[in-house]
Amino acid sequence: MTEQKRLRVALQKSGKLSEGSLDLLNKCSFKLRPAKNHYLIQSKEMNTDFLMIRDDDIPGFVDSNASDIGIVGENGYIEYILENPEHDLEIMAKLKFAACRLSIAAAHDSEIKTVADLAGKTIATSYPETLRDFLKKHQVKARILVMHGSVELAPKIAIADAICDLVSTGTTLKENGLVELEVILESEAVLIGRRSASNEIRQRTAELIYRLQSVIDAKDSKYIMLHIDKDNVSKLKEILPGCESPTVLHLHGSDNKVAVHVVSKEGVFWDTIAKLRSIGASSILVLPIEKMME
Ligand code: ATP
Ligand code: MG
Repeated sequence: MTEQKRLRVALQKSGKLSEGSLDLLNKCSFKLRPAKNHYLIQSKEMNTDFLMIRDDDIPGFVDSNASDIGIVGENGYIEYILENPEHDLEIMAKLKFAACRLSIAAAHDSEIKTVADLAGKTIATSYPETLRDFLKKHQVKARILVMHGSVELAPKIAIADAICDLVSTGTTLKENGLVELEVILESEAVLIGRRSASNEIRQRTAELIYRLQSVIDAKDSKYIMLHIDKDNVSKLKEILPGCESPTVLHLHGSDNKVAVHVVSKEGVFWDTIAKLRSIGASSILVLPIEKMME
C-alpha cells in the first residue's frame, strides 16, 4: 500500500485568525498547541502538516503549491486575487468566525460624507487593490496611500483625508474620532485551496471540511428537551426556528402532556425560554451539541 501524502495546511501564526483557527481544528480532534518559534506542526491526525505563517502570506503559499490549503480572512483572499488575476485559488468553505467588514471612514467633522466626496482626496489603507476596485466601480478618482498598520492614525496626522480599514465592533473607529461611510466588503474566515488540486488533495480537503462543518453547525445549535401539552407541539416551530420534525414521546401517567426533543439551529436565549413557557412548556432542558453530522 502506498503511504498517504501529508496534507499541508497554512494557518496564521498569531493574530485575529489564529485563535479561531486553532479552536475549530482542535474541536476536530487535532491537538495543536503552537510554541513561540514553532513554524511547522506535524500532526498524526489525518496525516497533516500545519504551516504557521503571517496571514498575508497564506494565499501566496497556497497559490504557489507551498501549501495545499489555508485558512485566511476573505478580505485577504480578495486582495490577493485582485492583485494576482492569474491566480489558481478558490474558496472551499466559509468558516463562520473572524467576522469583520472592510469600510471607508472619515473624521466625524470631515467634509467627506459620501463616496462621491472622496473624489480628489487621499485614502489610507492596507487593502489597496480592493479599494482601487471599489473606487473604479463607483467611478471615483482618489489617491491611495498604502499603510501596513495604524491606518486609523492617518487622518489625525493629516497624511490622508479618509481611511479604508477593517472594522468589527466600530470601537477603534470611534476612539479615533472616525465615522464609517461605506462598507466595501463583508468578511469571515475562509478555507482556500487550488482549483487545479489533485483528486487526492480534494478528497483529503473534503474530509477535513466535513469535520469542520460538523463543529461549525453545532456551534449555535442546542438540543432542547421539554414537556408540553400535545395540542401545543405545532407552536414550537414558530418559537424554535430550524426544528422541523421534533421527536414526541409519551409521558408515563399523562394523557395530555408529551415530552418533546428538538434540535434548534439558532441560539436559544432567555426570551426564547420565556416564549416556550408562555405556551405551557415545563421541565425545559437546553443542552450544547458538540458535533452535528449530516
Ligand atoms: P499578521 O502578523 O499575521 O500579518 P495582521 O496583524 O496582518 O497579522 P490581524 O490583525 O491578525 O492581521 O488580522 C487578520 C485577519 O483577521 C484580517 O485579515 C481579518 O480577516 C480578520 N480580522 C481583522 N480584524 C478583525 C476584527 N476586529 N474582528 C474579527 N476579525 C478580524
Ligand atoms: Mg497581516
